[in-house]
Amino acid sequence: MEIAIISHDGKKVDMVQFLNKNKDILSRENIQLIATGTTGGRAEKAGFKVMKMLSGPIGGDAQIAARVAEGKTNMVFFFKDPLASHPHEPDVSMLVRVCDVHNVPLATNEATAQLLLDAIATRV
Ligand code: PGA
Repeated sequence: MEIAIISHDGKKVDMVQFLNKNKDILSRENIQLIATGTTGGRAEKAGFKVMKMLSGPIGGDAQIAARVAEGKTNMVFFFKDPLASHPHEPDVSMLVRVCDVHNVPLATNEATAQLLLDAIATRV
């Protein structure tokens, strides 16, 4: 199972805390993590193995959307910051749409990401 992690700057501390809290499941052999560039760098620093895409504002969200469309990414955790504006908002909307088109689970906040992870914990 491939899980994509994306975090806006205002949520990166929360994102790393979430990863650490769920280290047991996220480090399992059959879970592969991918992430936008800066998010992935933070995850690596926390000790996770991550395949890094481009940084979000220069196309990383679009790359992850492409992997969703191709059936490679099975779940997306997007730690969105709703209190900041983002120059790459069109890419963000596109990613959300592509997840809906392909019926791929997408969490846009930490609470939902935790519920999704808990739901798959017994299955992976
Ligand atoms: P980043 O991108 O991980 O490279 O910061 C995240 C985003 O804002 O889409």
